[in-house]
Amino acid sequence: MLVVKVGGAAGVDLDAVCADLASLAAEGVRWVLVHGGSHETNLVSEQLGHPPRFLTSVSGYTSRYTDRRTLEIFEMVYCGKINKGIVERLQRRGVDAVGLSGLDGRLLEGRRKGALKVREGGKTLVVRDDLSGTVERVNVSLLRLLLDGGYAPVLSPPGISAEGEAINVDGDRAAARLAAALAAETLVLLSDVPGLLRAFPDPGSLVARLRASEVPAAAAYASGRMRTKLLGATEALAMGVARVVVGDSRGEAPVRAALAGRGTVIEPD
Ligand code: ADP
Repeated sequence: MLVVKVGGAAGVDLDAVCADLASLAAEGVRWVLVHGGSHETNLVSEQLGHPPRFLTSVSGYTSRYTDRRTLEIFEMVYCGKINKGIVERLQRRGVDAVGLSGLDGRLLEGRRKGALKVREGGKTLVVRDDLSGTVERVNVSLLRLLLDGGYAPVLSPPGISAEGEAINVDGDRAAARLAAALAAETLVLLSDVPGLLRAFPDPGSLVARLRASEVPAAAAYASGRMRTKLLGATEALAMGVARVVVGDSRGEAPVRAALAGRGTVIEPD
């Protein structure tokens, strides 16, 4: 079992990822795909007159400020355009893909964050109306039903809280939970960079291998979304996933390349 997360940055190559996943499926490899949509959400938010706002927590992680209107735009983009675009790409290549969000069948259930302590303009603020959260449980039986029926699940945020409200959850960390819940051997996190770079954006500074205990120190090189990716990788290893590869979605056969060790390979100590 393989769990792949493909990001939503501007340079991500969904065609390459879908073609590769289709050829793996034809060889009998079972996988679950999780996707992002951050760049497109930013564009649509601007177009709809509700520009994105980002919060930086006191511990240094950035996240999208998600009020109700943002959540609605987020759903239009993630569950609509991006999810259905991926399902169409896979269906065209002979994969019986089914696109679902974490809300559907309570696939990705978690806890809504309470008050969020954030840094803004040198000050610490408390944000109370943010509709984001963290995945804590995966509906494995629904995924098995699909996989055993020959369907390929294509999953997107949002998730759902225990109370049944939609929550914006991070795709990398959700994929980490999924990989652990499905006992996947490898979690592949594909983005628009070759992996973790010691001197971003110099591709020659790729960190090829990391042990779990080295991740906190290596996170010092990372900013923005890469920090969250490393957090997801650490969580996946702590939950028993044997290997996480932070790889590039661009280029030939990006999933196979990551499985062959291209990118940043993170393994337990
Ligand atoms: P997602 O794949 O979830 O949409 P991103 O693609 O935005 O997330 O996350 C990867 C991004 O992290 C890169 O595009 C890059 O801008 C940023 N980044 C920050 N620091 C680093 C680093 N040290 N190495 C690689 N990427 C980094």
